[in-house]
Amino acid sequence: MTHPTDKRDPGTPPGDASLSEVALITALSREFGAPPAAVVLGIGDDCAALALDGPDYLLLTVDTLVEGVHFDLAYTSLDQLGWKSLAVNVSDIAAMGGEPRYALLSLGWPPDRDRCLALQFAAGLARAAREYGVAVIGGDTVAAPEGLVITVTLTGQVPAARMLRRAGARPGDLIFVTGPLGEAAAGLEILRRGAKLAPDLQEPLIAAHLTPRPHLAAGRLLAREALATALIDTSDGVATDLYHVCRASGVGALIPAAAVPVSPRVQAAAPALGVSALNLALTGGEDYLLLFTAAPEMAARLDQAFARAGLAQPLPLGRIVPGDRVLLSTPAGDVDISGRGYDHFRLDLTAEDL
Ligand SMILES: [Mg+2]
Repeated sequence: MTHPTDKRDPGTPPGDASLSEVALITALSREFGAPPAAVVLGIGDDCAALALDGPDYLLLTVDTLVEGVHFDLAYTSLDQLGWKSLAVNVSDIAAMGGEPRYALLSLGWPPDRDRCLALQFAAGLARAAREYGVAVIGGDTVAAPEGLVITVTLTGQVPAARMLRRAGARPGDLIFVTGPLGEAAAGLEILRRGAKLAPDLQEPLIAAHLTPRPHLAAGRLLAREALATALIDTSDGVATDLYHVCRASGVGALIPAAAVPVSPRVQAAAPALGVSALNLALTGGEDYLLLFTAAPEMAARLDQAFARAGLAQPLPLGRIVPGDRVLLSTPAGDVDISGRGYDHFRLDLTAEDL
């Protein structure tokens, strides 16, 4: 065990807890080196994609949820947590236009907690597995003294020629989201504050946070009908998720503030919560919708395809422009919101700014 005052090994880089997540991932991927030829997509998209035998790519994704960081058992039931643990991974498969297939679960369970409660977690996860056509085929259980730690690995597949990625957006493309923004973040605010709003307002918002429903059918449709140029799921807030698309595609984006598809429920709840609905919509995480770009001439086909599939119409968010920033256009001028998401500093914009 190393004492904090120990002299560091000269090969050890200096400590830096402030290293950004992006910088950390970049440093890690450099350490792992260039992937073999079978890897179509490595680090940096919603899934890794492998070209094995056959016409489909194999998709791989993994997500970890940590008690006290990603969830609080005062707000969520274990059953709901089980659902969400798989649903967030399904959302990453949806973000490639793929079909989820097989899951592995690693469950870190606190040694002093009743192990029978793990069955409630498993029931929620199994329900999500049935809903999204996933088979849970293995995993690991370990003791986790500091609190529950859940890691789900999920595989999926997508026809090779149809896979959608974060790269591919072009200047002039329109940007859409597959649902209204900000509901999960508003739900979390309600839970954190113990707020009491009208049940028909607060229950769907809380459900959006605790039991997200990934837009798998929309992802499948976009891929199968080649409707989109780039695709991502909205996990960190659209200001950050759209910035990921822009960086991967080498483009910028312009969002007219007045046209942001803020959820009407979020608009209704925001005053009681003392928060800006627009802030929640742009920087609130965990909506698990899909954000995609499409050529303008696709707009009519998009609407028809979504209607035919019985899906809600995609909502316009803005357009792709040359450059490398995500700009929110307001009457007072453009505001750079690139990368401003759930874990970052928040936009300080009110309705009066619009
Ligand atoms: Mg994702």
